[in-house]
Amino acid sequence: VILPLPLPHAFSYDASAQETCPEPGTIVQVPFGKQALWGVVWPSNPASSPAPTSTLKPIHQVYEGEKLPPTLISFIDWVARYTMTPVGKILKMALHTKALLRDKKPKRQKKLASLPDSEQSRREAQRQSVTLSPDQDAAAEALKASIDAQKFDVILLDGVTGSGKTEVYFEALERALDQGLQSLILLPEIALTTQWIQRFQDRFGFSPTQWHSDLTPARKEEAWRSILQGEARVVVGARSALFLPFPRLGMVVVDEEHDPSFKQEEGVIYHGRDMAIVRARIHGIPIILASATPSLETFHNAQQDRYKLLKLSNRHAGASLPLIQLIDLRQEAINTVRLQGGKKSLISSPLHQAIEETLEKKQQVLLFLNRRGFAPLTLCKKCGHRIPCPYCSVPLVDHRHRLLCHQCGHKSPKPTACPQCHEEDCLISWGPGVERLADEVAYLYPHARTALMSSDTLSGSASIRQLIQQIQDREIDLLIGTQMIAKGYHFPSLTLVGVIDGDLGLSGGDPRASERTFHLLSQVAGRSGRAQEKGHVLLQSHMPDHPVMQALVAGNRDLFLSLESQERQAYGLPPYGRLAALILSGKNAWEVEGAGRQLAQLLPPLEEREVWGPAPAPLHVIRGRHRWRFLIKSTQSSQGFIHQWLSGWSCPKGVQVQIDMDPYNFL
Ligand code: ADP
Ligand code: ZN
Repeated sequence: VILPLPLPHAFSYDASAQETCPEPGTIVQVPFGKQALWGVVWPSNPASSPAPTSTLKPIHQVYEGEKLPPTLISFIDWVARYTMTPVGKILKMALHTKALLRDKKPKRQKKLASLPDSEQSRREAQRQSVTLSPDQDAAAEALKASIDAQKFDVILLDGVTGSGKTEVYFEALERALDQGLQSLILLPEIALTTQWIQRFQDRFGFSPTQWHSDLTPARKEEAWRSILQGEARVVVGARSALFLPFPRLGMVVVDEEHDPSFKQEEGVIYHGRDMAIVRARIHGIPIILASATPSLETFHNAQQDRYKLLKLSNRHAGASLPLIQLIDLRQEAINTVRLQGGKKSLISSPLHQAIEETLEKKQQVLLFLNRRGFAPLTLCKKCGHRIPCPYCSVPLVDHRHRLLCHQCGHKSPKPTACPQCHEEDCLISWGPGVERLADEVAYLYPHARTALMSSDTLSGSASIRQLIQQIQDREIDLLIGTQMIAKGYHFPSLTLVGVIDGDLGLSGGDPRASERTFHLLSQVAGRSGRAQEKGHVLLQSHMPDHPVMQALVAGNRDLFLSLESQERQAYGLPPYGRLAALILSGKNAWEVEGAGRQLAQLLPPLEEREVWGPAPAPLHVIRGRHRWRFLIKSTQSSQGFIHQWLSGWSCPKGVQVQIDMDPYNFL
């Protein structure tokens, strides 16, 4: 029995009191120390050493509902091995024990029901309203053929923003529904599910099952059970939905597959998209990766014919792609917009003019600035001190009335004097933030109805849903947002996008910095002009010659990806090489450093591998924990190497080791 605890091995129990020995996948309650825990009977596990029969404790009870499907068990084993995580820790993500407790008298296993008649007829009614374009139709037919074939295939649905990708994979969904199969759709952000669910309901006449962290425990229990029982046929959710117990999964969709938030960085570190592909392979089913800006990894795999490629080159209904123009912020003459007291605005003159014209025409404007808060720094004018977080090695972000740490959430009131030189009234808020931008907008366009969309101003899906509705209903003229607004939304009246600082995100040592910036800005640009009116994007930059900016203006995504690809190849970076990171952390600085130096002495033979470090992490302290990193680069996987490396070492008590396979975060 594997228990949902961070333990790598199985435990043996006495099943002689049961009528028959429980099969693998059976959910059982067993004694563990003084507790009674739910666990799962695992297929034979070499890591378990069977204890002598006399000492075995009996199983408390057997859950009479469905067993965990063997595909899920294989998946859990695979993820555990790949991420080098104890299998019990992965099981914990998959087993919803609260749902088991409530389900004392489980229903008899039901066959997958066909849709109720009312739903069926509503779907018939809806279906007629969509006529696919020839492009869309060809893609939809190919997808449907894959659903029919029910074999493992990775399909990249590569279509410009607004080309109808959702519409196309809805066709595949419909086919899966007709076949009585379950479908899983992964979206990168909960906020995005609101519009998605609305569209789904309009099209299919019933609600999909949702799965994300914002659900109440009761709704989670219900969802988990109905998925296990095969009743929930369409599940839409965040990456954690990957671990749900589907007995009849027929297809997986990863929408916005390039999105960095598919990577889980805490607890079990895994990439949702990559693991979704593994799950589809285990089930032997097709998986659709949809994006207007595929990740370099996916693009590369499609070019190498490892993935099938379906392309949608045009926007729906003749809507054209937005015109993207650069505004060179280095030219002084361009910054003539003045605020109260003569201060320069974050908005340049050409952008200002475009905003006024757009508002005049009663169309909507989106101003994008990927910086939460009022200002990224609070600086002392006298001594230059930046107020840091007491627990992290980062400056506190100025949120006007208070200072906030974006790493650990620490809040403090804004001091009146500099904590370093004790001078009064010398602290200034330095740099751009969306809240400052909102102030400027209120001053420059007093009659516009504006809204600010950032994780600090909106909490929970209800407030997001409300704002989205307001924008759709054109109750908002001007929207200011962080990356939260960049993805997936469809606002037909939005015609102007202003990017306040296109260069954010290009600096730093992240090998994916350019790619990410390109994706993010393309996505933001893609919010404009999605209906009749042409969209216009003004991109403010201090680096107008940067390849990212040039590619955006030229609208040449593939050229950009090819250049980026050459660079990665030259350095042996993904997708041409594989990375793994080892992060050591602990409260005691010298203990962590010592552990790193010790490990460096114990390196096994490298065999075509490069190992860098130990080096202090760029975010050297988070939540009071000191951090050191190793980075491993190789053409092959490094699990075996890391296993060998760590097995001969006893980690000091106060130090934690995290393994990050295929890291996306180098901080
Ligand atoms: P994408 O996912 O590629 O950004 P969407 O699927 O959101 O594109 O499509 C953009 C808009 O165009 C949506 O409002 C969608 O309903 C509409 N649309 C796309 N294709 C069709 C079609 N064949 N018939 C009617 N509306 C369509
Ligand atoms: Zn902090």
